[in-house]
Amino acid sequence: MEEVAVKKTSEIEEKEDPIVVYKDVHKSFGDIEVLKGINLEIKPAEKLALIGPSGSGKTTIIRLLMTLEEPTSGDIIVNGKNLWKMEKNGKLVRANEHHLRNVRGEIGMVFQHFNLFPHMTILENCTVAPIHVKKESKEKARERAIEMLERVGLKDKLHNYPSQLSGGQKQRVAMARALVMQPKIMLFDEVTSALDPELVGEVLEVIRDIANTGKTAMVLVTHEMDFAKDVADRVLFLDKGVIAEEGTPEEVLQNSKNERLQSFLRRFR
Ligand code: ADP
Repeated sequence: MEEVAVKKTSEIEEKEDPIVVYKDVHKSFGDIEVLKGINLEIKPAEKLALIGPSGSGKTTIIRLLMTLEEPTSGDIIVNGKNLWKMEKNGKLVRANEHHLRNVRGEIGMVFQHFNLFPHMTILENCTVAPIHVKKESKEKARERAIEMLERVGLKDKLHNYPSQLSGGQKQRVAMARALVMQPKIMLFDEVTSALDPELVGEVLEVIRDIANTGKTAMVLVTHEMDFAKDVADRVLFLDKGVIAEEGTPEEVLQNSKNERLQSFLRRFR
């Protein structure tokens, strides 16, 4: 597939308010602390690549943002509002359901395993959330779903079922399904890891296209280093639950002196 150069969201203004803030976020599962004080700001339209060894906490960082996990301590702020509040007695209190629903509505997530509804057509997979969560009319939801499925190159599959599609096509449906919700933030969790190598390119191409439209903030957990270099404004290296290195793709992927990062990157050469 033809490589398309990605226009980066360069010159993201320093003074622009972040859409997401993590402040000293810790997360333990039982006795094991998997995030050990994450501090992170994501600006609107910023493209962030999260790299690091398996088990370093990358997925947990994005699951916290989707409110699929709760932090053990720390603040996660979306659009200026905390998802959880720590009370004086150390107890976490969730933000009210209305706010959490609004936050979830602004975030689109694409997983390694596509999680499509097997008993629904491709088109139905893409209209179910706009109709039932956003309470949109069927006509409007259908119109936008067709537009997004066209964008990911699947307009001829509207009435097929997921089982009739290749892995790459299923992943492109998952992206269209996230896009119809017009999210402000898109989270991609190793979306090419479960694909046969020959199907990876078509999926990365769609992510490039989403990145090129500029408006959506993106967090990409990926092992595709060349892709991260092309698409990301900023790369974070997560190691044992801390952000061990962060900077431009050049700073992190080419010029870093961090030994663990260098040894991690050698695996991809
Ligand atoms: P990564 O995405 O970098 O591979 P994860 O965030 O998936 O890392 O996992 C970090 C660590 O947390 C791993 O050791 C993993 O086994 C552990 N972990 C993740 N989710 C759970 C859970 N629900 N229960 C117990 N341990 C978990």
